[in-house]
Amino acid sequence: MSYLRPNIEAMAGYLPGEQPQDGQFIKLNTNENPYPPSPAVAWAIADTARGLRKYPDPMANAFRRQAAELLGLEPDWILCGNGSDDLLTIVTRAFVGEGQLARLPYPSYILYRTLAGLQGARSEEVRFNPDWSLPEAFAAGDADLRLVFLANPNSPSGTVVPAEKVLEVAERLPCPLLVDEAYVDFAESNCAHLVSRCDKILVSRSLSKSYALAGLRFGYLAAQPHLIEQLIKVKDSYNCDALSIAAATAALADQAWLAANRAKILATRGRLVREMRNLGFVTVESHANFTWNLHPYRPARPLYEALKRKRILVRYMDYPGWGDGLRISVGTDAEIDACLEELKAIV
Ligand SMILES: *Cc1c(COP(=O)(O)O)cnc(C)c1O
Repeated sequence: MSYLRPNIEAMAGYLPGEQPQDGQFIKLNTNENPYPPSPAVAWAIADTARGLRKYPDPMANAFRRQAAELLGLEPDWILCGNGSDDLLTIVTRAFVGEGQLARLPYPSYILYRTLAGLQGARSEEVRFNPDWSLPEAFAAGDADLRLVFLANPNSPSGTVVPAEKVLEVAERLPCPLLVDEAYVDFAESNCAHLVSRCDKILVSRSLSKSYALAGLRFGYLAAQPHLIEQLIKVKDSYNCDALSIAAATAALADQAWLAANRAKILATRGRLVREMRNLGFVTVESHANFTWNLHPYRPARPLYEALKRKRILVRYMDYPGWGDGLRISVGTDAEIDACLEELKAIV
């Protein structure tokens, strides 16, 4: 006899990437930024620590103002979250009910499926075309469809669906489209401007990757104010703590840091893609801070294992019905050199 909801018992549960805590690995498996965050972050945290006896601002308005300015919107178009995963949870809870349907592309971020499962909802995975463009079926109507997810840039491919196409998909869909822009600061374009053109489009962002703050947990969402108003009802009252609000606001204000960091990552990414191709890998052109790599005759899993024995951690991904591969995060030049050196010795 079990007291649990059947959908919880039936679910596999989301498995995050390995996070070894002994510091012995070159970590290229969870797309963390290899450089420390803006120094303004530590100052903001030290400054805020003195006021911790008080509850934080439940709406994180200091951050909302900063983000609104960055996106050319008003603060009531912004919602803050404890990492962008929190925002994905809030959006799923707000739109998708038991027995209803959520759609996600495949292969993509597996968490979307988990979130639908928690609701007792069904999820439909629509495969990308072999060139990582979206098939027509992604925009198809369905009476039960309540929410569609799109990671853009996508993981694990690092590919981008152009904004015009995103708008076209949203306009055809009978439900909201959540555009997950966790990696967008490493791309050349984004969809934030679409939010004012179409109230079915919600755009989520993360400070984990491009602002080097994965350990802080902060993300934000842009959508029309009438939607934000409803999502506020769903979130925890104090979903963001005072330290992370202050730190995230300081990080977002330091756009010079972001530009310099982005330039370094993009230079290393270009080199990683070229070198992987020189080693015989099929490496997709990336618009994110990682690359997706297959080798024509070296199976991916033994490569991952061999690298791990050398204390280099990359992400081995196996997508049933699609295939497997290695997702390698863009680390420092020295980390990427070490990884390439080992791969050269193996292949
Ligand atoms: C890393 C990642 C997130 C989660 O970001 P957090 O802000 O750390 O919760 C969301 N979506 C995708 C596609 C990601 O890779």
